[in-house]
Amino acid sequence: MPNNLADARVLLVDDDPRMRESLSGLLELYDCHPTVADSGAEAIDRLQRESFDVLLLDLNMPEVDGHGVMDFINRQDIDTLVIVVSGESSFNSVSTVLKQGAYDYVKKPYAPEELLSTLKNALRKRRLQQDNQDMHKQLIKSEQLHRFIVNNSPDLVFVLDHLCHISFINERAETLLNYRPETLIGQHIVELVESDDEERASLFFSHVVQDGEQLASCELCLKSNGLYQRKHYFEITVSASRNPHEGIPDLEDGELLLYGTARDVTERKEAADFINFQAYHDLLTRLPNRVLFKDRLSVTIFNAKRNNSPFAVMFLDLDRFKIVNDTLGHTLGDRLLQSVAQRLLVCMRGSDTLSRFGGDEFILLFPEVANIEGVEQIAGKFIDALKQPFHVKGHEIYIGCSIGIAMFPEAGEDMEALIQNADIAMYNAKANGRDSYCIFSPDMSSSPAFRLSLERDIRRAISDDELCLFYQPQVDLVKQCISGVEVLVRWEHPERGLMYPSEFISVAEEIRLIIEVDKWVLRHACRTAKSWFANGLPPMKLAVNLSPLMVEQEDFVEFVLNTIEQVGFPAQWLELEITENVLLKDQEHITRKLEQLSEKGISFALDDFGTGYSSLSYLHQYPIDTLKIDQSFVSTLDESNGACLVDAIVAMAQGLKMNIVAEGVESRTQLEYLSNLGCRYIQGWLFGKALSEQEILKLLHTTPVELEHRAILARQDRY
Ligand code: C2E
Ligand code: MG
Ligand code: MG
Repeated sequence: MPNNLADARVLLVDDDPRMRESLSGLLELYDCHPTVADSGAEAIDRLQRESFDVLLLDLNMPEVDGHGVMDFINRQDIDTLVIVVSGESSFNSVSTVLKQGAYDYVKKPYAPEELLSTLKNALRKRRLQQDNQDMHKQLIKSEQLHRFIVNNSPDLVFVLDHLCHISFINERAETLLNYRPETLIGQHIVELVESDDEERASLFFSHVVQDGEQLASCELCLKSNGLYQRKHYFEITVSASRNPHEGIPDLEDGELLLYGTARDVTERKEAADFINFQAYHDLLTRLPNRVLFKDRLSVTIFNAKRNNSPFAVMFLDLDRFKIVNDTLGHTLGDRLLQSVAQRLLVCMRGSDTLSRFGGDEFILLFPEVANIEGVEQIAGKFIDALKQPFHVKGHEIYIGCSIGIAMFPEAGEDMEALIQNADIAMYNAKANGRDSYCIFSPDMSSSPAFRLSLERDIRRAISDDELCLFYQPQVDLVKQCISGVEVLVRWEHPERGLMYPSEFISVAEEIRLIIEVDKWVLRHACRTAKSWFANGLPPMKLAVNLSPLMVEQEDFVEFVLNTIEQVGFPAQWLELEITENVLLKDQEHITRKLEQLSEKGISFALDDFGTGYSSLSYLHQYPIDTLKIDQSFVSTLDESNGACLVDAIVAMAQGLKMNIVAEGVESRTQLEYLSNLGCRYIQGWLFGKALSEQEILKLLHTTPVELEHRAILARQDRY
């Protein structure tokens, strides 16, 4: 836009040649070179082809006069300013031409100063107009851009007044919630929230209003005006601020405003819910799994202890399921399990838990039973319900169930005891005849029925290789390396999961199957460790636990020697862990056996030392190389006066020149104490739990282990 005359585009229209000359001459003086038209027609012609900032227009012209040119300009909406320069000075014609939109009027003969000043004013006005237009265009563009961004945001964007009424919401309201934005203006935001979440939403928004400018978020389910069948969840993020001066229209300056967004997180939430569901449920029956069951059981135990109230745990095993599964196939078996779950659920109350423990085993929790009769009634209902035939894929199937019941607190006060005892009661029920239930009593674990079924299971465990071995590192504090591993047996029960020795060793001992277990363990442990050595791992001590029954076997020595010979395991690396009660029997006989093996290089450790009855005095009669201080003594080291027994054991073992392994070392205090006493070998969770073969190999390959107490050890010189 011209700032001065030199840049101005001027069209000079006059039929009088002198006038044209005089005006051009005047403008030329200011470097302005006007375009000249000698008639109205020519002016129109020019205006069609070029644009001009200003027209200097004569009125009186033949054919097309000044009014005609003005009409043309108005009709075509041409953007220019017109200064009429005319001898015509009647009020009429001046007012007509001004009405037609002329900017100003200069009378002929003109005074040059007046004409120039009018022209300059016109140019200034034009520049202002132009600037204004440019600014307006920019404003529109920027407003469009912001509107575009806000409306195309994938999220809802909204503004609320201090009462949480919607004062703005973007176009997303239509695609996400099926509401036209304008229909929501003025509504309270909580009206958009599904009724289940209303209370939470009210609380959330009132907190936001109170807390002021904090950013807050909350997940809420919003109404979708019939758009979706299922619930849709939104993550609402809101922050509060004061309406700035000339900020949001319709709201007062300084009024509190809430700005917010709402993002549709339904898919994310559903995925998380599913993962969560999977972690805590059995996908086949959709019932709670072991983890969830145990969690609920622990809460129930806690409450029951506080309120002194009874509750029941029930184990339910289907009687003929395995036959069905094997003969009619897994798909049908799965359908059957689903139907069983449905039938059981019908007989239960909302507060009870039915969980599938695996296979055809279910475990149930009844937190609100008043007495044993109540549980018996439920058990009766279950038995009746499952006695009825199932119709699956055209087959009529009869199964039935056996139920074991453990009442709190009679059958145990902790989770493991209650589950295990309900299981034992179930085994009894099975042995008593199918389709029955049994309530746990303490004499049951040794009952013939229970032993019979467990015996069957343990036999299967041995023949089907369900046993597996774990290895716990033993650390040599002097050499600062792992000096050996203790082999600990586990049972991968197909239905009950990983079982620990405490759950089956004592029963296996009672039914003398422990001998088979120990043989299996010795054979497998030697074979496994041999393969480690063959693969380049430096040889180390392999400590294998033996039951007294195993040691008492006539062929004990022969079996051990044959085994290591067959496997090719070097005798000097085998340590057999025996317990004190072995030594209490037929001393001569036992001594001979141990000596025979000892002569071949095999060493012996006395396990759990201090828990039995052995007299310290006769220990030297046996070829025992190592004393294992039982965990129960080690754990007393954290107490102020717990140390004296450990001191005595260590002093005695040192006197007998025996190695000492401290078991169950869990804390640094214990380690420090033992290390100061001169106890050289340490086994316990502080250095490592019992690990699977794969895990222990990983650990062994990174030896020597970095001991945490190098500093303490550095001071030790008296092992
Ligand atoms: P044990 O021979 O005294 O084995 C040590 C037990 O203490 C193991 O339990 C081990 O996992 C646990 N333990 C080790 N360090 C710590 C610790 O720092 N803190 C705590 N709280 N516990 C620790 P596990 O594996 O349950 O074995 C229990 C017992 O079962 C063994 O006691 C052993 O008497 C017997 N056992 C294990 N495997 C066999 C086997 O193959 N044959 C025989 N006959 N008995 C076995
Ligand atoms: Mg042991
Ligand atoms: Mg032990």
